[in-house]
Amino acid sequence: MFENIIMLARHVNHVSSSNGFYGGMGGLGAYGFFDPTMLLIIPAMILAIFAQAKVSSTFNKYSSLIARQGYTGADVARQLLLSAGITDVTVERIAGNLTDHYDPKNKVLRLSDSVFGSKSVAALGVAAHETGHAIQHRESYFPLAFRTAIFPVVNIGSKLSMPLILIGLLFGYFSSSNIILLIGIIMFALVVFFQVITLPVEFNASSRALKLLGEYNYLSPDEIKPAKKVLSAAALTYVAAAAVSIAQILRLLLIFNRRSD
Ligand SMILES: [Zn+2]
Repeated sequence: MFENIIMLARHVNHVSSSNGFYGGMGGLGAYGFFDPTMLLIIPAMILAIFAQAKVSSTFNKYSSLIARQGYTGADVARQLLLSAGITDVTVERIAGNLTDHYDPKNKVLRLSDSVFGSKSVAALGVAAHETGHAIQHRESYFPLAFRTAIFPVVNIGSKLSMPLILIGLLFGYFSSSNIILLIGIIMFALVVFFQVITLPVEFNASSRALKLLGEYNYLSPDEIKPAKKVLSAAALTYVAAAAVSIAQILRLLLIFNRRSD
């Protein structure tokens, strides 16, 4: 499930090792000690499952609603980039479903099969959202610039935190030292911070998208509403992912605290 959530979380230079990381956290849940701290995680997991179902169903629903202007997702992305004075970003097609993202390193905006050539309201919403990220990049929008700056450190944290936490937990059975567990938790905290700073980046890209789609008349006011529903559902997956991580770190801190007594 978390692999899927992170597949949805495909946006700007996401933590590339997230898949492995979340697989690992799932492993911790199944680690063999179900205790009351699990209650912290369950509501967040339910939210994550709900968000994933919601984004798929909303996207599918409005993929069959064709926008009246007759532009494709790729048309809209290219034209909005030009309108923003951005000429060095290319728009490409990428395989998969909801794999759309803006790649700031190579300045490529990649739109998935269901967005690139689609004239649906859902496709235009996603295309404009990704264009919003390209505009954020051009404008050095602070939360995005900050996130990009801390990315290398977060990337290391996301790779090391899970092994360290698992080793720390095992080690704790044989030793009174919790230092490995603590280092793992600190590394994990970096990932949580990254996920939280992702939220303003995502919300801002969506609000830019809806504003531009309306301003340039790609969508009429009655079409903006369903586009907003698609983008809000996508944003909820990021909120849910952050909530799961926050619940996990609270649980780890409780376990750490109990072991330190
Ligand atoms: Zn995004």
